[in-house]
Amino acid sequence: MSTIAANLQQIRQRIAQACQQAGRDPASVQLLAVSKTQPAQAVAEAVAAGQRCFGENYVQEGVDKIAALRAMGHGGLEWHCIGPLQSNKTRLVAEAFDWVHTVDRLKVAERLSAQRPDGLPPLQVCVQVNVDGGANKSGVTPAELPALAQAVARLPRLQLRGLMAIPEPAPDEATARAVFGRVQALWQGLRADGLALDTLSMGMSDDLEAAIASGSTLVRVGSAIFGARTYPAR
Ligand SMILES: *Cc1c(COP(=O)(O)O)cnc(C)c1O
Repeated sequence: MSTIAANLQQIRQRIAQACQQAGRDPASVQLLAVSKTQPAQAVAEAVAAGQRCFGENYVQEGVDKIAALRAMGHGGLEWHCIGPLQSNKTRLVAEAFDWVHTVDRLKVAERLSAQRPDGLPPLQVCVQVNVDGGANKSGVTPAELPALAQAVARLPRLQLRGLMAIPEPAPDEATARAVFGRVQALWQGLRADGLALDTLSMGMSDDLEAAIASGSTLVRVGSAIFGARTYPAR
């Protein structure tokens, strides 16, 4: 078995165990393999081990990798854009990706909707919320969230699926759960206001257990699957 296949098996076990401890169905948590900075060959190894959904942070790198995997015969994968989005990159994202987790401004959402090609299903989106950070961190504030979510939900070529968050690393599990719990409460509030949300994108290699305890439905795991990233973020 390849290292990637073994790592994937281990992550699936961690997810299953965290679900069991939380009294949740393991099928209620999806695994997104974060392949940023990793070569197409590493993605192909994960595909061979049964993984179908991949997350990329850098738009051009993601677009190139999607094309590379397709050329390798892997056309049926699901690609999620999880990096910060600039307005001048929205067309590439709307044309190449299936999901975007990092919508935090209406302008970007409007461009994605307008640029989504007619032949493709609606782009699946999460609004990124900043529950713990300073002003220079990505994500909408909890106060601004309801208005943005309602506006995004009305855009014709987007389907709003839920919320995404990247809290600061917490000093302990209880703190991590509390922060993730704030995101879950915001998500439940939007659902109570009538939005049909089913996705709570939170939890990474180091904190997926706390995220699952607080209701995550999608964990984004990179280094625990693919190993340390070999070149730095640009
Ligand atoms: C890189 C990244 C991840 C994966 O982080 P790991 O700690 O390697 O699991 C998850 N989410 C986002 C938004 C990322 O940028």
